[in-house]
Amino acid sequence: MDTQNLSRRGLMLVLSSPSGAGKSSIARALLKADSNLVSSVSGTTRAPRPGETEGIDYYFVTVQQFEKMKSASEFLENARVFDNFYGTPRAHVEKKLSAGKDVLFDIDWQGTQQLRENARDDLVSIFIFPPSLDELERRLRGRAQDPDDVVRKRMARASDEMSHWPEYDYIVVNRDIDKSISQVQTILAAERMKRARQIGLGDFVKGMRGA
Ligand code: 5GP
Repeated sequence: MDTQNLSRRGLMLVLSSPSGAGKSSIARALLKADSNLVSSVSGTTRAPRPGETEGIDYYFVTVQQFEKMKSASEFLENARVFDNFYGTPRAHVEKKLSAGKDVLFDIDWQGTQQLRENARDDLVSIFIFPPSLDELERRLRGRAQDPDDVVRKRMARASDEMSHWPEYDYIVVNRDIDKSISQVQTILAAERMKRARQIGLGDFVKGMRGA
């Protein structure tokens, strides 16, 4: 019998990686292919990059606005990354999860640690590696959106970020973007089938057994 339509508890799918490992491309492809997956949109104090849209890529806020949201406990998690502050607004995520949607997060290891502490059962975390450090640098330079000193800083931080891989549930090495997308989709499909997430299962089985 088909159990696809049973009510399900939404999960939080976290993708972390050093900047330039291909995480954003993977996230975009997942969202496009899956209407049950929605993106969390973070608040940040960093300036928008060319092509970034307010409310889609980020909510761009001032340090004062960020601090105010933080003290009002409006963030599910927050962290300082490089010289900027980032945080996940709580309300949107909680609304989507309770509607049975899965929420995708592009956050760093600090934010993932906070989610793990607060919502372990709902969290599925994936760390994405670039195929090599040389390739990572090539990708960062290829993007050509950040000035040289920013690229250097990110390269220096990449190995620091990568040291947190043992804290994640799954590891994907992004050698081929299509393969990586399908690997993440496989993880998501399996995690959705977990017994604890299929909250309609009890009634379904009861009905089948005529109890
Ligand atoms: P970027 O400035 O390149 O968009 O992001 C820099 C880093 O900040 C990335 O590793 C990204 O995953 C992380 N990041 C983006 N939004 C959030 C957030 O809301 N919380 C945390 N903890 N990290 C974030």
